[in-house]
Amino acid sequence: MISLQQAQVHYNDAGTPVSDLFGDIYFSDNGGLEETDYVFLHKNQLPERWFTHPRPFFHIAETGFGTGLNFLLTWLRFRQYKTQSTTCQRLYFSSFEKYPFSKPDLIKALAAWPQLAELSRLLIESYPVALPGPHRMMFDEGSVVLDLWLGDVNELLPQVPDHNKVDAWFLDGFAPSKNPDMWQQNLFDQMFRLSHSTTTISTFTCAGFVRRGLNEAGFCAQKTKGHGQKREMLIASAEQAADYSSELSEHITVIGAGVAGINAAFALWQKGLKVQLLCADAEAGMGASHNRQGAVYPNLHATYDRMSSLSCQSFLYARQFYSGWLEKLRVAADWCGVLTLACNDNLAKRQHKIQQQSFAQSGLFSAVTKEQASQIAGLELPYAGLFFPTAGWLCPQEYCQQMANWLRAQGVEIRYGTKVHHIIKQQDGWELATDAGAVHAATVVLATGAELNNLAAEPSFPLRQIRGQVSHLQSHRMAPLKTVVCHQGYITPAYQQVHCVGATFDRTAGHSEVRAADDQQNLDLVNHTLGKPDWFEDVSIISAKAGLRATVPDHMPVLGKHNQLWRFGALGARGLTWAPLLAEVLACMMNKEPLPLTVQQLDSIDIQRYL
Ligand code: SAM
Repeated sequence: MISLQQAQVHYNDAGTPVSDLFGDIYFSDNGGLEETDYVFLHKNQLPERWFTHPRPFFHIAETGFGTGLNFLLTWLRFRQYKTQSTTCQRLYFSSFEKYPFSKPDLIKALAAWPQLAELSRLLIESYPVALPGPHRMMFDEGSVVLDLWLGDVNELLPQVPDHNKVDAWFLDGFAPSKNPDMWQQNLFDQMFRLSHSTTTISTFTCAGFVRRGLNEAGFCAQKTKGHGQKREMLIASAEQAADYSSELSEHITVIGAGVAGINAAFALWQKGLKVQLLCADAEAGMGASHNRQGAVYPNLHATYDRMSSLSCQSFLYARQFYSGWLEKLRVAADWCGVLTLACNDNLAKRQHKIQQQSFAQSGLFSAVTKEQASQIAGLELPYAGLFFPTAGWLCPQEYCQQMANWLRAQGVEIRYGTKVHHIIKQQDGWELATDAGAVHAATVVLATGAELNNLAAEPSFPLRQIRGQVSHLQSHRMAPLKTVVCHQGYITPAYQQVHCVGATFDRTAGHSEVRAADDQQNLDLVNHTLGKPDWFEDVSIISAKAGLRATVPDHMPVLGKHNQLWRFGALGARGLTWAPLLAEVLACMMNKEPLPLTVQQLDSIDIQRYL
């Protein structure tokens, strides 16, 4: 497991941040902004190239995010460009950082640039906790996308998918003499792998070994005049790299309007695709996404493995995504924190192990004693646990329905009451058999939850249906509950005086009717796990909901294409947490835009692993 060390900075007499580790400045003492404009933008022919760019998105990659100054200025220039042209609609900016600034240091460093105050504030708001790997942040309604890859660029670049071709490189990083570990042939070779024939590079340095290394990798590097007092710097082009190729579908039909389908439709729409959404029910969010309150929090294994990392990344993205939408869509939600209790030996051991790992220092969660847990919850609890202060719950059904309405208002075609019985491959797409007749679709995404295997004559994969029932109950004595409590099931704080307690976990039942026995099971589980708490004595069940959740043996989601058919699902009981990031991944795969996951993470969710 890679562990991250944060930047150690002090400020010189000119007020410029200086790295203690490298003994070098983050940007030029005078004229940091002009230098960025000259060295990185102008020398990559930006903004000019945006006006004639052949694709709707432009991808910049940078070595060394530092204070984010280069990113912020590029964002500002892109905003200015967008007032003049619509040729290039999205800017992707991928940056790699081994020693991320802490948030307080970032706030201090960026205070030096009043011209960038608004953008700095937005960056600071979204800036991720120090967890290794890629973190995607969206700004300006998805028109500026920042992927911050935390870790050593030489370790991370080989993990960047081939798919993520770069249009312009900002080769930054401290001076080669102060940071020889970064300026390696491996770096230049990896940059070439991720380049195409019109990719360009610029860097402030003119070191001979950098020029030779870039040439050795396949680039054509040359010296050019440096900024201000600096005599020379380097630029490079990549004529020898393969041409950029893209063949895209413009019209996408998404089948299923639960959390997966709705998020997929949104992400595809946001990339400028024409989306049609088919929903079997009269409204969105009527299947397993129909709950009153769904918890949003990451699933941690004992180590920072593929589940923990993907789950944390998804959580951080989901949190940012929903925060932007909930108020606009008027969806009930509360970021009241989630407490996961160590209520048996296995869980206690796992949590103990988690606390020994470096990712426990990220600030995403903290270990709490049973007294602290009780205080956080507002009710007496018998176990210690982990507390996720930025997690919480939202109403998935409201979210699906309101987002569907919003998408419809943007021109997304939504057909309710359109159950698709089967789909047949045709030469130019698919024929979908529905009650209302055949529908033609150029490209299909199945997001049909527990029915992900059912529609196509495709090889099926080991999808399991797991029935889950959530009981809705009222109780005076539970009223003080202030946070979501996860024991072996979960309990939510009241929403409109009703708590959710659940959920059952039944691999055998294939239906989703509510059963009284399942309500009893939910009550028994609380009493059994938490030792008959007195605050649970006066509960009365008022209603319940049951649904079929879908999962595969490794419990990771499923995403990918097989025989021209896209499938997205197996989100289990964590659809709300997985869906925003994975829908974004799906849309980027389909539209050939940069992906916010490592090659290994993509493999771990690829449907091919089961085919
Ligand atoms: N582009 C930055 C900005 O706009 O503020 C300034 C970059 S600063 C000169 C160089 C950055 O590269 C530092 O933040 C440093 O931590 C980072 N860095 C150095 N070696 C690295 C490596 N091997 N992998 C990733 N980042 C590295």
